[in-house]
Amino acid sequence: MNKLMSVTIAIVLLSILLGCLGGSGELETQPLAQTQTVTDETKTINADESWTYGFEISEGAEIEIELKVLSGGAIDAFLMDSSNYAGYNYILGGGTGEFEYIVDGSSISTKAFKGKFAVPPGAYSFVVDNTAIPDGGATPTGSVDVKIKVTAKSPVEGQNGQVSTQRAAVKESVSETTIQTPDLQMSGGETIQDLGDFKVVYGSVGDPVYKKWQQYFKESRTFETMTDELNEFLILPEDVTILLDECGERNAYYDPQDVQIVICYELIEYLDNSFYDVTETDEELIKASDDTTLFIFYHEMGHALVDILNLPITGKEEDAVDQLSTLILAESDDQGEGEVAALNGAIWFFLTGSENEITELAFADEHSLDKQRFYNIACWVYGKNPERNSYLVEDGILPEDRAVRCGNEYEQISNSWAALLSPYVKE
Ligand SMILES: [Zn+2]
Repeated sequence: MNKLMSVTIAIVLLSILLGCLGGSGELETQPLAQTQTVTDETKTINADESWTYGFEISEGAEIEIELKVLSGGAIDAFLMDSSNYAGYNYILGGGTGEFEYIVDGSSISTKAFKGKFAVPPGAYSFVVDNTAIPDGGATPTGSVDVKIKVTAKSPVEGQNGQVSTQRAAVKESVSETTIQTPDLQMSGGETIQDLGDFKVVYGSVGDPVYKKWQQYFKESRTFETMTDELNEFLILPEDVTILLDECGERNAYYDPQDVQIVICYELIEYLDNSFYDVTETDEELIKASDDTTLFIFYHEMGHALVDILNLPITGKEEDAVDQLSTLILAESDDQGEGEVAALNGAIWFFLTGSENEITELAFADEHSLDKQRFYNIACWVYGKNPERNSYLVEDGILPEDRAVRCGNEYEQISNSWAALLSPYVKE
């Protein structure tokens, strides 16, 4: 499809959107909770794997951690600030170095641990480690089931006494082990080994329509071409499977257990249906649907990278991987074709944002409100090239107040992702 036609489609879709907006382009905002639950779940962590929760702490807030191994051997638990977390990751990736952890929030070779304490404001990572590192830590004996609860609480008037009593009551089994001394050199010395690739796999499909699509994807090598490009520039510690399958639900997700991205044909069908009413020709429909599939694919790939590279993400991982997907698409060509592709993904979030049905999509759960996602992506696309995408503001799709910040936002997310991925980019 030529560029002109794509741009036309985006404008057609966006003008429909404008109708949806009804003249008010206000951003929806969520109130900040007093208690932020970072996690409250039971996690199976395989031998030689670790699991990370990233979060941010505001001024005066305190962290509460509860951890209990329900089955399996002892593990290591570390609370780290972002620079030490980067060090931990470097060592996990095979590098030589050290990291320091916050003693109140960490426990070496432990099966149960509880802590409640204050830390300076900033970005933190809590890692449950079932690997052989660090020296002196727990040695993995197999997979473990661990109950993990991490909350961050803003202080409430009059509870200070209680807090300090609880703080004094914690700290058991925290060893004094000092883990060597910091010496992190990302450039030089150790190199991270490329042990994996993205691999496309096709599930067994019964539905005749999905069968035809599967045939089409296989012959066109759509996903193989994308993964070939990714494999050429990314260093991966292990393989990531991309499974195209008939799932019995319309969904796309990353499964960390199997290190697998699943894209269901039911979701692709749903994308087609979503765009049916807002496009005029089959060609427009397929283009919009394919662009959205790409957006979702790169979003899920982002989750996979965060997982297998243990990338330190602060804030919502969902927003971070939306950023990555937008970046990859927007940077994919000079003609603005990729910017249109990202916008089509954004439009889909907008179109489905008003449907209750969408809550059935498991992958929507932890995400920002769909309309917020739309404004975010539209903002980043605008920020990448305000001249080419000035119609977003002129047509009142992107509020002016937000638009003025988008150039900086795009630069920031672009720099952040470049920094996160730089150790894993080949040559
Ligand atoms: Zn997601």
